[in-house]
Amino acid sequence: MAGFVESAEPFLRYLEHWHEHLKEESLDELIAGKPERVAVVCVDVIVGFCKEGPLASPRVDTIVEPIVRLFTALHERGVKHFVLPQDTHEPDAVEFMSYPPHCIRGTIEAETVPELQALPFSDKFTIIEKNALSAFVDTSLPAWVREHPEVDTYIVTGDCTDLCTYNLALHLRMDANARQLERRVVLAEDCVDTFDIPVETAQQLGIRPHPGDFHHLVFLHHMEQNGVEIVKGLA
Ligand SMILES: [Zn+2]
Repeated sequence: MAGFVESAEPFLRYLEHWHEHLKEESLDELIAGKPERVAVVCVDVIVGFCKEGPLASPRVDTIVEPIVRLFTALHERGVKHFVLPQDTHEPDAVEFMSYPPHCIRGTIEAETVPELQALPFSDKFTIIEKNALSAFVDTSLPAWVREHPEVDTYIVTGDCTDLCTYNLALHLRMDANARQLERRVVLAEDCVDTFDIPVETAQQLGIRPHPGDFHHLVFLHHMEQNGVEIVKGLA
């Protein structure tokens, strides 16, 4: 594919500009006086991706504080639906063919990060166990969504942008499209991130590279193209 890198450059510059100009949205406008119609979904903000373990990333850990702020602001405004799909693997998970063993049931890695656990309303969290990058495949999330038809606004947060967050946001969107539902799927960019493995580091370690900024922006843009609203933050 001759000229691939050169031909991609204008798009990468466009992406950078697009990202810099994302806008904050008002939480009060989003809720519009109807907190019962709003749910926040927070995927994989657990110890194994934020704090410790083979897949933990300091870059991903930086989203915890904005998520705590967002959860607090939502709770103050009467929102009651806090849905947390989380990796809960058995030791023989098939996914471990692609990723090193992580977030095994009963280990510290599979626990919600302590900052979210410390929230006074953490007993209201709905934890959804999952065994794959998709929070919808073979989990209790599809049933939760169908049992809450009054919820027409889903706020998406969590990690990783190009993996579980992407699968979650797209599935929420596709589910609404397929069933002709008027639903907003709004992703708060300051509450979403992915890990970073530069090419040079990957070559030294003999693993697959994963440039964080590149994947973050390309997947955010892809989600927007498919009807997910991307905002800088919600305050
Ligand atoms: Zn996993």
